[in-house]
Amino acid sequence: MKYDIIIIGSGPGGIFTAYELAKQDANLSVAVFEAGYELAKRHCPIDGEHVKKCVGCKSCSIMSGFGGAGAFSDGKYNITNDFGGTLFQYIGKKQATELMHYVDEINMSHGGAGSRLYSTAGTDLKKKCLQNKLKLLDASVRHLGTDNNLVVLGQLYNELRDKVDFYFESPVSEIKVLNNGFCVVSKEKEYFCDKCVVSVGRSGSKWMEKICKELNIATKSNRVDLGVRVELPAVIFSHLTDELYESKIVYRTEKFEDNVRTFCMNPNGIVVNENTNGIITVNGHSYEDKAKQTENTNFALLVAKHFSEPFKDSNEYGESIAKLSNMLGGGVIVQRFGDLVRGRRSNEKRIEEGLVTPTLSATPGDLSLVLPKRILDGIIEMIYALDKIALGTANEDTLLYGVEVKFYNMEVELDNNLESCHKGLYVIGDGSGVTHSLSHASASGVYVARKITGN
Ligand SMILES: Cc1cc2nc3c(=O)[nH]c(=O)nc-3n(C[C@H](O)[C@H](O)[C@H](O)COP(=O)(O)OP(=O)(O)OC[C@H]3O[C@@H](n4cnc5c(N)ncnc54)[C@H](O)[C@@H]3O)c2cc1C
Repeated sequence: MKYDIIIIGSGPGGIFTAYELAKQDANLSVAVFEAGYELAKRHCPIDGEHVKKCVGCKSCSIMSGFGGAGAFSDGKYNITNDFGGTLFQYIGKKQATELMHYVDEINMSHGGAGSRLYSTAGTDLKKKCLQNKLKLLDASVRHLGTDNNLVVLGQLYNELRDKVDFYFESPVSEIKVLNNGFCVVSKEKEYFCDKCVVSVGRSGSKWMEKICKELNIATKSNRVDLGVRVELPAVIFSHLTDELYESKIVYRTEKFEDNVRTFCMNPNGIVVNENTNGIITVNGHSYEDKAKQTENTNFALLVAKHFSEPFKDSNEYGESIAKLSNMLGGGVIVQRFGDLVRGRRSNEKRIEEGLVTPTLSATPGDLSLVLPKRILDGIIEMIYALDKIALGTANEDTLLYGVEVKFYNMEVELDNNLESCHKGLYVIGDGSGVTHSLSHASASGVYVARKITGN
């Protein structure tokens, strides 16, 4: 089989590459190879009743399949260069912002219309944060919600399936560089193309490293973010979430001068398990549909760690800590803030009697046995700082789930076209280490599609 372009991975990066290629030149032959299932077949068996914990499916429907890691996500498209990736370093801030707005327009015209766009512009909360040693980062946030996000993905798939060949449940094992193009191997079959766009996201991080080694593409070690997911009654944060939906707040700790930041805020949302290469960590999302909303808000508190010499593998450090929590808790551990500061383990009884009803069934335990002191001290400091702008954050019954780990892929050496040292081989999205968000990953796909078609 021979195609003009083969895209590997059908997360937001791959989808928007395919979308833009089809739009710019309808005559191009394009194939998308995806390790996971098509959208309709994606299903996580955890139902909270019969299956409460991750059963380690062969292909994790939360992370893989059409829509990528973003499919069951909260669908928060942050339009900003302040966080979510460093795409702007390759293509400039103006173009990065334009492309993120372009992606937003496409989402709006494919079922997302009506969802709200929040913005930090002109908010008084900035001042209140600064008065309490907290910094609110600038962003516009389009919140599609998990339900609407799936509608948008469904419409994009219906539009693309006639224009692009999709190969689902077809992990690519190998890429061979030929004199005039590439050979992509999937399920022991060879497919040929002139240009290849690799967009394998976080779930493809190990495979990406292998490919970079095989093809002599240089990589740089990236950071890992470690911390917990906080869950508390939604009313405590409602003045922030009603106005901004998601607030990205940074706190600089007094003790170690580390930056701790809020991440992925889900008003009236649920806390979920995340499975990355068999390691169970915690995440969260929320629905736009009121019927599916809870009385809790959740968000992560994370500290970034970056290693250089002699140990370089930041992800391995994060994995080891997540494995420790999996060893002690059989998965994710949950602890009341009051128990943590008292230095005692939470148990079923104390969690049950608490005023916050957990939305994830996790094992009550002691996070101080898992997270390094420096990280835990920073998180505790930040919870007290947040208590000053959202009174009640530091309540005894506030729940902390651990561990939350944001693995960042090794940064692949790319030029300003997001092209590797092999002409015609592009690496985009989270798999490149350049982006870490829906909007940046999608924008990188549009960018590369335009580069390929010369537009
Ligand atoms: C629960 C959850 C909630 C999130 N919420 C948000 C949010 O609200 N806002 C936000 O900005 N970001 C969020 N994120 C992060 C966001 O989903 C990612 O940044 C985004 O999906 C990255 O897009 P991508 O296309 O680069 O990679 P991915 O979405 O990870 O897609 C990569 C695809 O490639 C496939 N693949 C991997 N290896 C291979 C291979 N060898 N062959 C073929 N296919 C392969 C995978 O199966 C996957 O489908 C969330 C993530 C999770 C897990």
